[in-house]
Order: sequence, then C-alpha cells, then structure tokens
Amino acid sequence: MTLVWARIAGWSVFVALSGFFGLGFLLIAPIAAYQRVVFEDYPTVDAYLKDHPDAQRGGGGLACFKCRSGSMYLSFWRGLGAVHICRSCGTHLYRSSGK
Ligand SMILES: [Zn+2]
Repeated sequence: MTLVWARIAGWSVFVALSGFFGLGFLLIAPIAAYQRVVFEDYPTVDAYLKDHPDAQRGGGGLACFKCRSGSMYLSFWRGLGAVHICRSCGTHLYRSSGK
C-alpha cells in the first residue's frame, strides 16, 4: 500500500512540475516571441542607411537621422542584439547584433 501512495505522490509531483513548466512556457513563449517581433521591427544598419543615406558620417560612423548627433548608446536585448538609441534626442535608430 505504501508503494501505491509513493507512486501516486511521484506522479503528482511529475504532473505538478510539468504543469508548472508548461504554464511557464505558455507565459514566457509569447513574451519572447513578442520581444523578437518588436526587436525585428527596428531596421538593420543596412536598412537604416538605405532609408537615411545622409546618416552616414565621415569615418564610417552613423548619425541620428533626426538631430544629426553621432552620439548613441546601446540598449541590449537579451539573446537578440542591441538597439542603437540617439543620446541627444532619444530616437530609436536601428538594431545590430550588439557585438
Ligand atoms: Zn537624435
């Protein structure tokens, strides 16, 4: 009889854990998918230069197409890359691999 209860307890733990992880997956997967979609909505460097050819500065750097500032910082997106944001006006400019 002890064995039966042990097996029931074992399966209960298994079901509870798989339910737990299943729930976690249900919550995390859409968030991760959403982040990816939002991230990929930002243009790549190539696309950014195509849209704003005059954002190319001498020396190979890129400038903000709005305020012409060449100063930007990176907002890192875990597992995806980085979004380059203008320090001067705060415009989200383009994405890169973040390396
Ligand atoms: Zn700017």
